[in-house]
Amino acid sequence: MTDRPAADPSAFAPKKSLGQNFLRDPHLLEKIAELADIPAGGTVLEIGAGTGALTRALAARAGRVLAVEVDERLIPGLQQTFADQPHVEIIHGDILTLDLSERLRDTPYLIVANLPYYITSAILRHIFEHLPRPQRVVVTVQREVAERLIAGPGDMSLLAVSVQFYGQPRLLLRLKPAAFWPPPEVESAVVRIDVYERPPVDVPDEGVFFRVVRAGFGQKRKQLRNALSAGLRLDKESTAALLHQAGIDPQRRAETLSLDEWAALARVVALYEGGA
Ligand code: SAM
Repeated sequence: MTDRPAADPSAFAPKKSLGQNFLRDPHLLEKIAELADIPAGGTVLEIGAGTGALTRALAARAGRVLAVEVDERLIPGLQQTFADQPHVEIIHGDILTLDLSERLRDTPYLIVANLPYYITSAILRHIFEHLPRPQRVVVTVQREVAERLIAGPGDMSLLAVSVQFYGQPRLLLRLKPAAFWPPPEVESAVVRIDVYERPPVDVPDEGVFFRVVRAGFGQKRKQLRNALSAGLRLDKESTAALLHQAGIDPQRRAETLSLDEWAALARVVALYEGGA
């Protein structure tokens, strides 16, 4: 392994538009890699390798690291830093459009990343809906997003339901802006999502489940009866009847429902649509 430090982030102009806030505290970088619990010889996908500081901590623990970075200015430095570590593959591209299926096929793997905050939700969606299913996701996100991810009934959001459907999120560490260069305007937190082998609730089909959840959250602060009726294109009486069948008061709002209640509703909607 090389002793050469990863490229110095202050040597180039960071792009705010790419969410370039580099973690500079070596102890925190080590801590994040540690919290990921990388199994011996394990594969790690890092999203947004930046100057390679976290990549370095991951490479010391993993059997294989796929480090994706969209900013071409950072690629030569990354390639140079890891030139003598053949188990680290630097991949230039946008994580949302890259095809990684060949590289990750039949490979249990973890995702560890200090995410670019401007596309956190899109990346989380992409991870669970398009990438081969990882075993665990350990990501640094905006603290407010971390709190939304771990929220319970009363404060649920489309993002919380979507992530909690696939895994159990836990907030592990809070980070001050000063841990980064340049410091972001917000506080950050490290979240670990242990991905389930099977969803924790019984749903007829994921498509119906997410269509119902999206419809429910489609109209902010509206009663479920109204939001669902608009989103699922059903009249209000049928919508209220379906909610009653699922044991849910039609006057409740989407943020109050538990995952179990969304699943019950999806089952009732699937039956109704199947018979319609
Ligand atoms: N891993 C480094 C660290 O911990 O210091 C950098 C983290 S920085 C918050 C996010 C990185 O993601 C930046 O290097 C940025 O260029 C990269 N990035 C932004 N959008 C991306 C995308 N769509 N696909 C891949 N990387 C992206």
